[in-house]
Amino acid sequence: MIKYNLLCKNCDISYDSWFASSKEFDKLKKKKLINCHRCGSLKVEKNLMAPKLINKSFNDKKDLLKFQKIKKKINEYQKFIKNNFDYVGENFAYEARSIHYNEKKRDKGIYGTASKKDLKELKDEGIDAQLIPWVENENN
Ligand SMILES: [Zn+2]
Repeated sequence: MIKYNLLCKNCDISYDSWFASSKEFDKLKKKKLINCHRCGSLKVEKNLMAPKLINKSFNDKKDLLKFQKIKKKINEYQKFIKNNFDYVGENFAYEARSIHYNEKKRDKGIYGTASKKDLKELKDEGIDAQLIPWVENENN
C-alpha cells in the first residue's frame, strides 16, 4: 500500500488517498477512475512533496541556492549511510533492540524506518537512534 497526497487542480484541495502501488495509481489515472472528492474533477494529480514543488516557493535566488546546497549534502549523507549501514526497512526497532539486548554482532550500523512512537520507546530503553533527514531520490 502506498499513500499519496492528491491535489485537485480544479478546486485546489488536497487529500490523502491509499493505493495498492504506484502502478495501480497510474492505471486508475489512465482509466480516468481518479477524481476529486469534492468536485468530481478528473484533474487530480499526485501532490509531490519533493523538491520540485519546494523550489517554486523560493522567491529569493539565494534561498534556492542554499536549498540546493543542502539537498546535495543530504544526498552525500544518504550515500554514506547506504554504503556504511545496512538497510533493515521497517524492522528497524526490532533490529535495534536485538543489537542492544543480544549484543548481536554486526559489521555495520543499521538504518531503516521507524515511527515516532518506536523512536520514543527505543529512547526510553536507552537505545540511541538518530532521526536523519531523508529525501527521495527522483531517479530511484
Ligand atoms: Zn476538486
